[in-house]
Amino acid sequence: MSEQSFCEKCGVRINADAHFCPSCGYRIPGRNEEEVAKERQFVRDMVLNRAKWAGYLMLIYGIPLIIVGVYYFVASDSIANAIWNDPTAHQQLVDWGLTFDDVTNYLSYWGIGWLASGIAGICSAVLCIKRVHYIPAVILCIVSVIFSITGFLSLIIGLIAFWLVISSRLGFKEYEDKLDEIVEQNIV
Ligand SMILES: [Zn+2]
Repeated sequence: MSEQSFCEKCGVRINADAHFCPSCGYRIPGRNEEEVAKERQFVRDMVLNRAKWAGYLMLIYGIPLIIVGVYYFVASDSIANAIWNDPTAHQQLVDWGLTFDDVTNYLSYWGIGWLASGIAGICSAVLCIKRVHYIPAVILCIVSVIFSITGFLSLIIGLIAFWLVISSRLGFKEYEDKLDEIVEQNIV
């Protein structure tokens, strides 16, 4: 591999196994097909895996939201009790003009919101992992992020997942032809 040759275009000394001239960027002819195919496959897999990773992140994001959502909904009474019995929180709630029932209701709405967010997230995750139906996957992801707006952490993770989902478009099966075309054009 230490064998060296010279760039046909600019005359700079280059490694025999280099694909491009490091000085002028000239593509050294004669790369074998196998190598090109391998490189194409690598880029292709990277894009396909991106869609899957978007799905795994949505899964990690959606499952806890469902659990928390169900918990808030089912246990809204006892959580409200705990809050109501905390002297500082109690005073604050009374100042805001809230009753115990209001607190219970808000907690269960909160739970429903998180539950909806989690379910939409899981649905989006499944589509991403299977790499099918890009547009519904994006819409479900948006719905999930909107419903998770009450949780700061869930919102941040949701937005990261959203960015991953929209940027993995070419990894979805319906765009695979387009992906092949782009890979072919760029890796020659
Ligand atoms: Zn050169």
